[in-house]
Amino acid sequence: MSLTEISRAKPPLLPLATLIGRELGSEKVEKPIIRYGQSGLAKKGEDYFLIKPDCERVPGNPSTSFSVFAIFDGHNGISAAIFVKENLLSNVLSAIPQDVRREEWLQTLPRALVSGFVKTDIEFQQKGETSGTTVTFVVVDGWTVTVASVGDSRCILDTQGGAVSLLTVDHRLEENAEERERVTASGGEVGRLNVFGCSEAGPLRCWPGGLCLSRSIGDTDVGEFIVPVPHVKQVKLSHAGGRLIIASDGIWDALSSDMAAKTCRGLPADVAARLVVKEALRSRGLKDDTTCLVVDIIPSVHPVLPRIPRKKQNMLSLIFGKRFLNLTSKSSNRLSAVGAVEELFEEGSAMLSERLGKNFPMDQHSGLLRCAICQVDQAPADDLSVNSGPFFSSTSKPWEGPFLCTNCRRKKDAMEGKRSN
Ligand SMILES: [Zn+2]
Repeated sequence: MSLTEISRAKPPLLPLATLIGRELGSEKVEKPIIRYGQSGLAKKGEDYFLIKPDCERVPGNPSTSFSVFAIFDGHNGISAAIFVKENLLSNVLSAIPQDVRREEWLQTLPRALVSGFVKTDIEFQQKGETSGTTVTFVVVDGWTVTVASVGDSRCILDTQGGAVSLLTVDHRLEENAEERERVTASGGEVGRLNVFGCSEAGPLRCWPGGLCLSRSIGDTDVGEFIVPVPHVKQVKLSHAGGRLIIASDGIWDALSSDMAAKTCRGLPADVAARLVVKEALRSRGLKDDTTCLVVDIIPSVHPVLPRIPRKKQNMLSLIFGKRFLNLTSKSSNRLSAVGAVEELFEEGSAMLSERLGKNFPMDQHSGLLRCAICQVDQAPADDLSVNSGPFFSSTSKPWEGPFLCTNCRRKKDAMEGKRSN
């Protein structure tokens, strides 16, 4: 059973005339329906997840709704995973200007995700705890899906045509040469665990700390080169919709993206999530925490009008006029575009200067500058973070990004291996 067939089965059937009326009545296609399911099995109990299907861009206005789904795979304890689950969403939202229209909100979201991840990491560090967590954080607004991730909890997209794509990258030292270079350049050492003189044991890790991941939130004791700056990808689905599978590495160490998608294709989201977990366990056993979220983005009205025999079509065009014929031909164009995904944004650099933009938002009334990470207002004179060349040592390039407060500036320098103390 394909996704179309599910969506065909779920919403109440509408008379054709109603569907046509809706299509003609507005240029916009209605928002999709979101259905989701979750399943998991714990080994260490360090996987957490977040499902918030009813967030609102404008509080109190349901027409501005969006959904958030996230997975946090903790390590060396659970405190980072819990902290991020509880604080990340509000930190991201606080980095988006108030009263912006939907388009601008979506355009600002990738940058706000970077700010929110870094802010959450700074706040967690201040607690003085040592655990860390992967984060895969998915915002679904209409047909637009935005995914921000650190670590190796993947999110894949399965579209109706059967094309499976990865919306995250794995921040694993073993598999990511670019990240190995960055960690080494920022003062970390990358190597394998030396067990009893055997230098080839296990995956590549960074030292100090011995973490296999190159990015995470938390890990205060490991080193600042393990950065919380997320890879962000934003795509717009075709109006045929699609399915997201978000899961911790307990799934991905056992199943490829294609296998996970194929295992549950055509089944409702809740059954699909259970089946993916079951399949992973069948092939590998319970070796790690295993968590899976399945999110279906389904057209709220049948995406393509049913195929109508030519004779009947002529009759309908008599009733509805020429526009009906145009409409049906448009629909068949849409059918050929089923599964097409429009890429809107992708950026994975760990350098904040490349991620936060360059504008210096200054409050017209107070003359204060707002820190692009923590959103705290400061008088420009209080701080040297504004690019001002001579104030910086000759070893570091002048900062080319937006205003950062002293605290966030210190964090940025530390992540780039430039901490002076
Ligand atoms: Zn700040």
